Amino acid sequence: MKNKKIRVRFAPSPTGPLHMGGVRTALFNYLFARRNKGVFILRIEDTDRERYVPGAEDYITESLKWCGIETDEGVPVGGPCEPYRQSERKEIYRQYALQLIESGDAYYAFDTPGELEKLRKDYEKEKKGVFQYDSTTRKTLSNSLTLSESEVKDRLTVGEPFVIRYRMPENETVVLNDIIRGKVEVNTSTLDDKVLYKSDGMPTYHLANVVDDHLMEVSHVIRGEEWLPSLPLHIMLYRSLGWDSQMPQFAHLPLLLKPSGQGKLSKRDGDRMGFPVFPLQWKDPDTAEIVPGYREEGYFAEAFVNILALLGWNPGTEKEIFSMEELIEAFSLEKVGKSGARFDPEKAKWFNHKYLISRSNKELSKLFIPLLREKGVEVQPELVEKVVGLVKERVSFAHELWEESRFFFVRPEKYDQQVVKKRWKSDTSLLLKKVSEILEKVDPFEAGVAEETVKKFLEQEGIGAGRVMLPLRIALVGESKGPGLFTISEILGKEETIARIKEAVAKLA
Ligand code: GLU
Repeated sequence: MKNKKIRVRFAPSPTGPLHMGGVRTALFNYLFARRNKGVFILRIEDTDRERYVPGAEDYITESLKWCGIETDEGVPVGGPCEPYRQSERKEIYRQYALQLIESGDAYYAFDTPGELEKLRKDYEKEKKGVFQYDSTTRKTLSNSLTLSESEVKDRLTVGEPFVIRYRMPENETVVLNDIIRGKVEVNTSTLDDKVLYKSDGMPTYHLANVVDDHLMEVSHVIRGEEWLPSLPLHIMLYRSLGWDSQMPQFAHLPLLLKPSGQGKLSKRDGDRMGFPVFPLQWKDPDTAEIVPGYREEGYFAEAFVNILALLGWNPGTEKEIFSMEELIEAFSLEKVGKSGARFDPEKAKWFNHKYLISRSNKELSKLFIPLLREKGVEVQPELVEKVVGLVKERVSFAHELWEESRFFFVRPEKYDQQVVKKRWKSDTSLLLKKVSEILEKVDPFEAGVAEETVKKFLEQEGIGAGRVMLPLRIALVGESKGPGLFTISEILGKEETIARIKEAVAKLA
């Protein structure tokens, strides 16, 4: 076991768009594989045909690609354990289901869904607790343990629907060893007889998952905490199939929690609070509903990966910004916590901001230029680069650059009335006229020179800077924001600066 080659798998079910918690599971598997020079497998668990959603598999592969999570083996790249889509492995599972019947570890059950439903209701009515198919109840139900051999044979021959259930032994202790959670003991008498296989020829998750992890020589099963309750059954299955000496190690990752810290992070939290819970935008094939994705909202893939990495994993230092390479270098399962990881949407934006400001002005301007074109701006790439450099500190997303910098490209259409009311006094227009005359003479029209000239003039005239600067900003920007006033005027150029002052004076006087 010690020297077993590290092989991990991400095993999503294509039942809809992949939740960010699923992407985190994929990421942790990937980091673990890379850190240990192992193999990352992508296996598609599509045996539940009722929940199958067309397009979901492509969504999964595209999401991983966007995140930079490279699949070594599996869908769609292939590999030595093909096929990697469970619906294409039906025959394999059938053999193992029959092997379990043969060894007495599983049995046929013929109870109809209606009969079982009635039992559930009766239990509820009679306050006998929750009905489960287990070592006690199976004795009175319709299965190959209670029916005669010939009766079972007849039923199978005429094609009566059946399921194959695992025969959970009574009163045995299963020891679960989880890398993150440590050792837990469970008594098998508390467990039910789960369905392993159905007469439609499909295995259930439990059988397919265990068989494939074994056949694909998976060394570590790293998955979400919601699968922990299935672990005792999986361990029992390894035993019954004679594979317990080659059992993988298990690590169950903590849940992602709502921003409040109370309960599991859901799509509804995202809708309510305005953040995505999916990596990419997704259009529901039935309802045509569009759910937002991190990519389309303007997150950098690197930022998204960084955000996910710190949900449950703690590097043990103050460092927060990690590239994929740095994550691979620092990652270990021992540093993954047990308790739920609270998702903070504001912090997520902060991460994107950090990645944004670390991009060169040129790179950012490339993201910004299409947006400017959409707004009808005639683009001068050098100017855009300069502008981006001036405002990028103020934004978290490339699309926010427009709001912060539009005044560089278009004249203000309106002026912030609140500021105008407070700061545009009876003599303001006259003062601005004077300032524009001063600016007219500034040559070269550079920020430093213009600032010095205007300040000197104000001093000489005994005019407080406060009376001029904010109105001047209103004239150039339309509101009281933006980088340094004279930097703005330099970029606008002398002519445009003076034109804007004139326009404001005309409109606001
Ligand atoms: N198909 C399961 C899922 O959708 C896989 C769980 C596991 O990794 O064992 O999450």
